[in-house]
Amino acid sequence: MNETSERHANVVLIPGDGIGPEISDAVIGILDAAGARIDWVRCEAGGEVFKRGDASGVPAETVEAIRRCGVALKSPLATPLGRGERSANVTLREKLKTFAAVRPVRTLAGIRSPAAHVDLVLIRENYEDLYIGMEYDLGEGVLAALKVNSERNTRTICRTAFDIARSQRRRHVTGISKSNILKKTDGMFDRIFDEEAARAHGIESGKLLVDAAACRLVQTPERFDVIVTSNLYGDILSDLTAGLAGGLGLAASVNLGRGVAMFEAVHGSAPDIAGRGTANPTALLRAAVLMLDHLGLHDAAGRIEAALALVFGEGRVRTADLGGSASTSEFARAIVEAL
Ligand code: NAD
Repeated sequence: MNETSERHANVVLIPGDGIGPEISDAVIGILDAAGARIDWVRCEAGGEVFKRGDASGVPAETVEAIRRCGVALKSPLATPLGRGERSANVTLREKLKTFAAVRPVRTLAGIRSPAAHVDLVLIRENYEDLYIGMEYDLGEGVLAALKVNSERNTRTICRTAFDIARSQRRRHVTGISKSNILKKTDGMFDRIFDEEAARAHGIESGKLLVDAAACRLVQTPERFDVIVTSNLYGDILSDLTAGLAGGLGLAASVNLGRGVAMFEAVHGSAPDIAGRGTANPTALLRAAVLMLDHLGLHDAAGRIEAALALVFGEGRVRTADLGGSASTSEFARAIVEAL
């Protein structure tokens, strides 16, 4: 089958808040020009929903639509400050039970970055660990936070890491924990990682403590291939790896659940530049490329990747965050012309 002319995919689009609508318009135009036939199912979440008085920020129809389509492209969602509402992002992850956040990080030619070459995938557990948000005031100035890790979720993310390594023809998986101090919770992570490594024939593996991993990621990032870790370490290390490859503004990620994949830019809604038409759509575009690959639309994904490499390699058209003066639509036009 000619994938660009015949396959249509249903994908939920959440245009989001702040710069969200601007960058999602640019991305939709590029996908269309690349021949990806997608029927977008537009759904709401975030700012407007909070304003209507829905304290979750996520209407039930949006969750239903994502479950039905199985795939969503989500622009950033703003969390209202000071009114006690929870983040709509966290609510979506909980409702869709997305157990893993998968963040590929790759240096782009023409983008200044601290590391010469990075090409890795970081997989982070997505709803347990210290992020369950259970904190206690024990009195007399002593506070405690609960770290909760289940055998089930730990096994799921370790297995997912080896599955991703196999499907992306990667060779090595590093499991990261702090088991020298947290002997029960992180000790369990190490044990399960080793069990999953033993089943994954043909893929090498190794374990590192999170502090040593941070140092090695800075010194020899090219030695890493797939990384799997729990929620807090993954949160910190994924920003570190994004920084190695040029910054958060270029980073994309996917939240994986059972039968559900929600693709997004790592950055937020950038309220400081919203409405000016100057936002950089690259991170959401890279999320869309991951989504096209997930949908089997490899031809369109490859064309967009090549166009991004060409435009950044030439260095003529850049948005303000990368030191240029191009508007969002001028940058998008340059990508379309390079397809
Ligand atoms: P932010 O990522 O929105 O912005 C940080 C800085 O980066 C700002 O100066 C912004 O202008 C710039 N920036 C971000 N994306 C850019 C882009 N594509 N092009 C050019 N410049 C860009 O972080 P913040 O200001 O801390 O958060 C703003 C809002 O976004 C908050 O409500 C926060 O809760 C939300 N947020 C959402 C997500 C998400 O939806 N996944 C992630 C992070 C933050």
